[in-house]
Amino acid sequence: MDHNKKVVTRFAPSPTGFLHIGGVRTALFAYLFARKNNGTFILRIEDTDKNREVEGSIEHIKKSLTWLGIDWDFGPNNPGEFVSCLQSDRLTIYKKYAEKLVAKGLAYPDPYTEEETAKFREQAEAEGRPFLFRNHRPETIEEWDGTRPLRFRVPEIKRYEWNDAVRGKLTAGEEMLDDFIILKSDGYPTYNFAHIIDDLEMGVTHVMRGEEFISSTPRFLSLYDALEIERPILVTLPPIMGPDGKKKLSKRDGAKDLLDFEKDGYLPEAMRNFLALIGWNPGTDQEIFPDKELENAFSLEKIQRSGGAFNEEKLCWMNKKYLELKDDAFKANYFEDSLPESIKSLPQYSTERLTKLAPTVFERIHNKVEIVAAAEAGEYSYAFSIPSYDTELLKWKNDDSVASALPRLEKAMTFLEQADFGSEETIKNALWDYAEVVGRGEVLWPLRAALSGLKQSPNPFSLAFILGKEETLSRIKTACDKISA
Ligand code: GLU
Repeated sequence: MDHNKKVVTRFAPSPTGFLHIGGVRTALFAYLFARKNNGTFILRIEDTDKNREVEGSIEHIKKSLTWLGIDWDFGPNNPGEFVSCLQSDRLTIYKKYAEKLVAKGLAYPDPYTEEETAKFREQAEAEGRPFLFRNHRPETIEEWDGTRPLRFRVPEIKRYEWNDAVRGKLTAGEEMLDDFIILKSDGYPTYNFAHIIDDLEMGVTHVMRGEEFISSTPRFLSLYDALEIERPILVTLPPIMGPDGKKKLSKRDGAKDLLDFEKDGYLPEAMRNFLALIGWNPGTDQEIFPDKELENAFSLEKIQRSGGAFNEEKLCWMNKKYLELKDDAFKANYFEDSLPESIKSLPQYSTERLTKLAPTVFERIHNKVEIVAAAEAGEYSYAFSIPSYDTELLKWKNDDSVASALPRLEKAMTFLEQADFGSEETIKNALWDYAEVVGRGEVLWPLRAALSGLKQSPNPFSLAFILGKEETLSRIKTACDKISA
């Protein structure tokens, strides 16, 4: 491979369902590598197995990649010079190459029925040897009229040795070579054949994919040889492991649809950053790579051989880091989006309160799921409805009786009546000196309880700021009345 060629990578999913984490990580690495090198990134849809196709998958794949910020230079809607980036539209191209192989005597129509092939297989098994089609090559080769599957005739049975950009030197014995089907009787190519033709036609320089393709690589190599094409650089990405790093990622651990993470409130930039660090590292301690930093830092050399763990806790941490970088308007929107109807239908629900509450929420939460849980546990209700609570809640732990809180609340009210409610800071300034003299807990505890009706909540200055002057005074008044009653 000429290393000075413009880098071309591709992501080549089959449209057989949603895009899971493993697939997305492959797409991301191929994308980052292309962008880092000012190269080209292609989205190619490998839709040659019509039986396995799931309707809507292509749209879903495009939506997922777009969400993650992965854009393609050529793809299903913008194939450019490539006729189409959907394999099902490229059948004449595969046929042309198949005919080349037929002309060279390197492909032949498979003459056997399924039953005959099954018998060969049984025989081999009974004799304890591996079943290989190449041991049953027909003596006379019929002309290929397109109605029989076309088999590649491996030109040279030999041991293959190749270099993988991540795994280094790999080898495989002759037993890994066989005459495999390149075109099926319905005219569709197999993956083994189609991807090689497409990679060639699209000028792909680096083939990045998972380790499950290593065992088939000798077949690919024999086909490159037969077609006399230059091998692309093969880059095997490490598997994604579950959180314990021992077993491969299972559905339960997070091998779910990428767009489910969107629903759960993960930011695309956090997800991208998180995925990039599964099986790749920058070689430094840096963990957060905003904007273009990820593609600038990315390199093949730092892709690991061994599996990388998918650790949802780390994803949460990273999401929080990226949420912290957002402005207040974004946070308010995100918060509102996450809130369940039970909160939105509360009598005092307003955008103003919501916007003021949002920043305090982001001190703790990592995603939308946590917001929903907190909302359902009643953590935000105080902001949008008058809390009901037991009068005893107003009692500071050092006081003998709740009555001690009454004069302090009344005094606090007089300060707050005069206070500027423009920020938490101005509210705090209005109360602080008094609280310092009388005792912080003595003043702030009953005040906080009066405003939130909760044992645990943000501090009373935040609460007062969220509620506004009128509502703050009204709730303190209610608390005083409860104590006096
Ligand atoms: N269509 C293959 C898959 O979805 C692509 C493998 C490759 O990248 O060559 O697994």
